[in-house]
Amino acid sequence: MTIAIRNSDPRHEGVKAFLARPRLQHLIGGRWYDASDGATMPATDPASGRLLAKLAQGTAEDADRAVAAARCAFESDAWRGMTPSARGKLLWRIGEAIDRQADELAELETLDQGKSLKTARFGEIPAAAEQFRYFAGFATKILGTTIPTSISHQPVGKKIFAYTTREPIGVVAAITPWNSPLLMAAMKLAPALAAGCTVVLKPAEETSLTALRLGELMIEAGLPAGVVNIVTGPGETVGAALAAHPGVDKVAFTGSTEVGKLIVTAASGNLKKLTLELGGKSPAIVMPDADMGLAIPGIARGIFANAGQVCVAGSRVYAHRSICEKLIEGLAREAAKLRLGHGLDPLTDLGPLVNAVQAERVAAYVAEGEQAGADIVVGGKRTGTFFEPTVVTSVRPQMRMMREEIFGPVVAVTPFDELDEAVAFANDSPYGLAASLWTRDLSTAHRLSARIRSGTVWINCHSYFSPELPKGGHKQSGWGYENGAPGLENYLETKTVCALV
Ligand code: NAD
Repeated sequence: MTIAIRNSDPRHEGVKAFLARPRLQHLIGGRWYDASDGATMPATDPASGRLLAKLAQGTAEDADRAVAAARCAFESDAWRGMTPSARGKLLWRIGEAIDRQADELAELETLDQGKSLKTARFGEIPAAAEQFRYFAGFATKILGTTIPTSISHQPVGKKIFAYTTREPIGVVAAITPWNSPLLMAAMKLAPALAAGCTVVLKPAEETSLTALRLGELMIEAGLPAGVVNIVTGPGETVGAALAAHPGVDKVAFTGSTEVGKLIVTAASGNLKKLTLELGGKSPAIVMPDADMGLAIPGIARGIFANAGQVCVAGSRVYAHRSICEKLIEGLAREAAKLRLGHGLDPLTDLGPLVNAVQAERVAAYVAEGEQAGADIVVGGKRTGTFFEPTVVTSVRPQMRMMREEIFGPVVAVTPFDELDEAVAFANDSPYGLAASLWTRDLSTAHRLSARIRSGTVWINCHSYFSPELPKGGHKQSGWGYENGAPGLENYLETKTVCALV
């Protein structure tokens, strides 16, 4: 496989100017700073290997200063005294600013992460803007309740008046992954700000550029100093320092299950509240009556989009034996159609993986599977950071490629005969993030969806998201929810006030 790297130069003047800066700094308390020890780390284009920018490589000391700034802002009049309506308008303005700069942000995301410009410009960047607009509406609708009590021992002539208030949890450490950088940051910032929290954001070290640009846009939109702080740097130092920091009240984490478990341990010191959006190994079940015209492109998109670097990627397909061959042929056709190239090239469907380590990891899963007897129908080859869209058959449930998250464009197809067998296959995973069911029979679809242990079930579609749809993992795919009303709840605490009046 040879991949032509064409059209890899930034075109947007804003992107050129951003990348031309001598280095990119942390945002702490409304100002920009180098790392405490002056260290920098590179941001590289995963497709070409070109150095894009130098970023501050944060330290535990930087994390500490950012937490102090967030605490100070949390207590400040500028933030606490802001009316809910003003907070809502601020969030809306941030959403609008993202939309106005969508061309610039999309190009920056593509250069930094590798994804196709189509995905960034028409999918993720507008979706990030939408997160802010959706949660803007919640700022004015955070309500407590009054509670009629049955307490009977109050003094004669007195009554109990009881009510609840909803209060922001406090300082939130938001730690995000590299697969959809701006969107993942927006999914945490928008509800946290709507609730009245302050935030220290640590983007993934591989992809920090759009978070820093968002920091500038938020300040221009009127965000008070210190309400959002951004510290770039490695997970093992900055991320770990935030997870363990006694001044952090909550960690909102998206990333691997492995790191999620480390965060649970680190956060136990002061019993931080946690939301964990973790890994997945999502199944797709294709029934004999499925509309194959819908299922084949839908399942292909569900695994190959963003080169498979999607938490809900449908990497395990269970197809009824009567239609399994047709499905495999269809998926192989879809895979072969996809053009690999630099994300900025308008002809590109699939960019590279985020870096060589990830490409090597994907290649190792496929090679090991092949050695253990899996057949590669199409794809299977790596060139540098690129990996071909791959369809695999003859897999067994205990193979590592069937149990672990590959996070690459690799799908394994297994036939089934009975519905119970398909359910058992689908649920045979430590993960429980998402699943899709493909059938024309609505009653089968709903009965089946009740039996699947996952946070989301799609029927006749895969990977459909929107800020109003709660998203969370069952089993080892996570704790808590993002999006929708449950997504806001995770940033609020309830206070009960009970008065003798
Ligand atoms: P990762 O777990 O390696 O890193 C995620 C973040 O955690 C990064 O910012 C990293 O620097 C930080 N980190 C690493 N070690 C840390 C530590 N010891 N303490 C604190 N922070 C630390 O994940 P990744 O490789 O960036 O992203 C891919 C993973 O993210 C996949 O497993 C994918 O399924 C998952 N993901 C889940 C969702 C979801 O909504 N469930 C969405 C996107 C990605």
